[in-house]
Amino acid sequence: MNCDVDVVILGGNVVTIDPANPRAQAIAVKFGRIVAVGRDDELRPLIGAGTKVVDARGMTITPGFIDAHCHPMDAGRRSLLRVNCGPDVAPSIPEVKQALINRAQATPPGTWVLGFGYDEAKLPEKRLLTREELDEITTQHPVFIEHSSGHIGMLNTAGLEKGNLTRNSPDPAGGKYGRNSAGELDGCVFETGQDMFIGRGSYRGKALIPDPTPEEDRKALALASREAASLGITSWHEMLADPPMLRSYQEARTHGELNMRATVYIHVDYLNETTGAGLQSGFGDNMLRIGGIKLLGDGALSGRTAFLSEPYAGTTDDYGVLGVSPVEMEEQVLAAHRAGLQIGIHANGDRFLGMVMDAYEKANTAFPRQDHRHRIEHCSVMNTQLLARMKRLGLVGIPFGSYIYYHGEKMSSYGAKRLETMLPHRSFLDSGIPIAGSSDYPCGPWNPLVGIRSCATRKSRAGEGIGLGQRITPEEAIRVYTMGGAYASFEERTKGSIEVGKLADFTFLSEDPTTADPERITDISVVATMVAGKLVYQKE
Ligand SMILES: [Zn+2]
Repeated sequence: MNCDVDVVILGGNVVTIDPANPRAQAIAVKFGRIVAVGRDDELRPLIGAGTKVVDARGMTITPGFIDAHCHPMDAGRRSLLRVNCGPDVAPSIPEVKQALINRAQATPPGTWVLGFGYDEAKLPEKRLLTREELDEITTQHPVFIEHSSGHIGMLNTAGLEKGNLTRNSPDPAGGKYGRNSAGELDGCVFETGQDMFIGRGSYRGKALIPDPTPEEDRKALALASREAASLGITSWHEMLADPPMLRSYQEARTHGELNMRATVYIHVDYLNETTGAGLQSGFGDNMLRIGGIKLLGDGALSGRTAFLSEPYAGTTDDYGVLGVSPVEMEEQVLAAHRAGLQIGIHANGDRFLGMVMDAYEKANTAFPRQDHRHRIEHCSVMNTQLLARMKRLGLVGIPFGSYIYYHGEKMSSYGAKRLETMLPHRSFLDSGIPIAGSSDYPCGPWNPLVGIRSCATRKSRAGEGIGLGQRITPEEAIRVYTMGGAYASFEERTKGSIEVGKLADFTFLSEDPTTADPERITDISVVATMVAGKLVYQKE
């Protein structure tokens, strides 16, 4: 048997996130695990004839980044099958139109032309697309453009015809069809108005826009894996999976197309199937495992639909939107909790956060379970009482990491007082509440360094400070994006820090974020990414 170690990394600035040994120079890897951490002179004797030696001089090495709430399959499907209409790629309406025209010209007539990421708030025109504009792109293809919030779709005439929508169509329950002053459909469909196109709600399984094929899904995951690796991500939590998605994950993994570690949280619609099969959190292995059950909840921060106890600033009666029945949520939480599953619930507004904690408290009172680590996804409009309750109930918070930087300009409707304790990273850490880093990609940027910068500066892209008292240090932010994510999926014993025995997942950076100017953290580049001691990305 060959006794040499497989890989020795030398000369690096290793930020270990291990409090007992915070910095090192060298790491040795065997069979995908860390076997030694220390100084170059301590590890050099481990180098044998079969050892690959990595020269990391000038680089900072952190544990591989973990994104604890994202939607990589969706992201991959979008990049593969849809046109990016986001402001970073198409910064004006003429540029959005041109991108769609290019796609239409390469698409057989009658086939859908799909777009995503449209966000008028970040465009000079400050308005949605009109049906007439989309008809100018093509009359030969139905067109559907998804708004970045996910709450609005925009269609051309051919698209509206696919849905048999006319000026006489009544608005659906829970949604709306946009109309111009003459009462004609203007092409916009709001909330449940999108359901027939995307196969949601009562249209589940009957979407007018065809679902991706299993082959497309595997390609989508391969694409997402490559993108994640280029950002230094080595593990992700896929936050809303259905059976076809889970199947595609397994196939992508078998075919070597998934080079990330994925923890998958299953949509609550499949709670009965999951509990019926006897699945519990942690089923799987180090590459692909079941995390638990994901429940939806109140609205979105940016859509001003988070469910609040005090009205939105400047209104007297706008409290946001409660998207679920609290009674049904409590039943689902109880069933998943009893079955040994971890639960993650989407909750933004303070009023809904209280309801989520009610549900968790009732379930754990009825059937006490040690170390359940039930999660609150987003955890946005917090306050001191909610923080104290979260700590007492042993809950894990998954606050948006990059929200302040990326969407800060959308937060003014919460008013100055609430902003002091929104996404309160400092208070979470000071209260001893475990938290993890998350992007909600593709709803926010995937790059963990954007999240780390946002947590460390609490400044929007325009430079506006928001709740500056909630800043954490870059090193704390790195810990949130590594150990925090590992803890949130019960994997803190196998990853999240650079310690002997843990998985050899590393991110190589061009500079040290713990000593760089926090506002420049996003200028740092990922030089390479390793999963299980193998390079999955190397910068050219
Ligand atoms: Zn999400």
